[in-house]
Amino acid sequence: MSHPHPELTEPGKLPKGGLRVTPLGGLGEVGRNMTVFEYDGRLLIVDCGVLFPEEQQPGVDLILPDFGPIRDRLGDVEALVLTHGHEDHIGATPYLLRERQDIPLVGSELTLALLGSKLREHRLRETVQHKVREGDTISFGPFELEFVAVNHSIPDALAVAIRTGAGLVLHTGDFKMDQLPLDGRITDLRAFARLGEEGVDLFLTDSTNAEVPGFTTAEKKISPAIEQVFRESDQRIIVACFASHVHRVQQVLDSAVAHGRKVAYVGRSMVRNMQIASDLGYLHVPEDVIVDAKELAELPPEKVVMVSTGSQGEPMSALSRIANGTHNFVHIEPGDTVLLASSLIPGNENSVYRVINGLARLGANVVHKGNALVHVSGHASAGELLYCYNIVRPRNVMPVHGEVRHLLANGDLARQTGVESVVYAEDGVVVDLIDGKAEIAGKVECGYVFVDGTTVGDVTESELKDRRILGEEGFVSIIVVVDSVNGTVASGPEIHARGHAWPDNAFDPIKQPIVKAVNRAISEGATDTYQLQQAIRRTFGRWVSSTHRRRPMIIPVVIEA
Ligand SMILES: [Zn+2]
Ligand SMILES: [Zn+2]
Repeated sequence: MSHPHPELTEPGKLPKGGLRVTPLGGLGEVGRNMTVFEYDGRLLIVDCGVLFPEEQQPGVDLILPDFGPIRDRLGDVEALVLTHGHEDHIGATPYLLRERQDIPLVGSELTLALLGSKLREHRLRETVQHKVREGDTISFGPFELEFVAVNHSIPDALAVAIRTGAGLVLHTGDFKMDQLPLDGRITDLRAFARLGEEGVDLFLTDSTNAEVPGFTTAEKKISPAIEQVFRESDQRIIVACFASHVHRVQQVLDSAVAHGRKVAYVGRSMVRNMQIASDLGYLHVPEDVIVDAKELAELPPEKVVMVSTGSQGEPMSALSRIANGTHNFVHIEPGDTVLLASSLIPGNENSVYRVINGLARLGANVVHKGNALVHVSGHASAGELLYCYNIVRPRNVMPVHGEVRHLLANGDLARQTGVESVVYAEDGVVVDLIDGKAEIAGKVECGYVFVDGTTVGDVTESELKDRRILGEEGFVSIIVVVDSVNGTVASGPEIHARGHAWPDNAFDPIKQPIVKAVNRAISEGATDTYQLQQAIRRTFGRWVSSTHRRRPMIIPVVIEA
């Protein structure tokens, strides 16, 4: 939805004592969540996430919220509150901090730890951080914040209550109401009720599953399916899930211990996040169960479990390389079991089924959402949302976190419980809370910001269209093998072009600069293959456009040996 509410114009001046809410991302799409609250000339931001590009957006690495509407006012920002550590909530933070590094960052221990590794990658060292937990209150300028525990598909998620002279706002963040979660940390409905008693003037609620009737299945309910895989498998088991799903990994660890198997993490983000989670005590790792992925070859197959990234079929991920037989040390043997313990995010269907087919062709037994209960959602379904509305009894509701159909379904639930005022806003639509009544006040210019390598915002929609056309004239794949032990390029780049005739040896002049760029990225602390791919794409992209006036699609492949 790039042009919601075409009739709306710039909002007028915010009346004194009013609270202005401007979503800059996350409303009208699932991803890049960011909402700005304004009171008395000061700003508070909740979340700052990314959206991952679709196949029709070639060469784009990430999509950010549009900081345009607040760019001139960054000095007025009191704090950035991060509700939890998912990419669609924290991923764009480094890009915002590049524009003002000392914006105070407020979040739970795990959220800030996951953000921390991202800030280091961006070499942002001078940040200001406030660690909070449920029950804490803390004030930033005119905004008095209170944090409430919520249950979600990552530990340590928080809802935030925001008190100003305009009234009380409650923002759920992403949440569900699993009553028997693995860590025992439930959504604190008692706090929701207490805030409701006080009088919630504006309630912003997670719309993701508003169309799904009933209640989201408990996380524990997937244990039998995982257990069955362990019981029935007499060869290797590979589990793929999101690198932030600590509780899913915990279930796998527990089953592995029960069945006498060792576990190795495959994929850098998995290794990094599970290290953070276990260091902070969110993941309980029994002694001697974790082994290095490279040691797996020495163990008998029935003693092995790999926990891998790539559950969405991401082409460069460990699981995709395993599925197409190009992973350097994991090779599927007939009879191995692969468990995809994750959702299927819309848009990823083709790549996920490509991976499943690849694995099946190699003889693996593939267990996934389509044939077993191996995944439950992290978001509240309609039944849970109804409960919340009845408990909180808010004056006004503003559905957030969803495509238009999700927002509408969520608003409809609120109305069914008797909420009279529901405001449907999309990105850029400004909502004012004045004298207890929330209303749309106008609209600010709010587009998509594309990150392409390290340039932010230089790629426009029309350029993307050019790329789609140019994409037809060809692409170039660049394969580099990196020695992961001493951290240098071991062989390559091998450069292959398709769809456009290049003269022999045309790529020779760029080979050495690519090697240099990769080595430099490693020595500067690049921690995952994705960053190395970006370095390759950047180096080759600049050269091919300045020397040959071409924009082929560039597909960098980094293989760790
Ligand atoms: Zn989330
Ligand atoms: Zn989210």
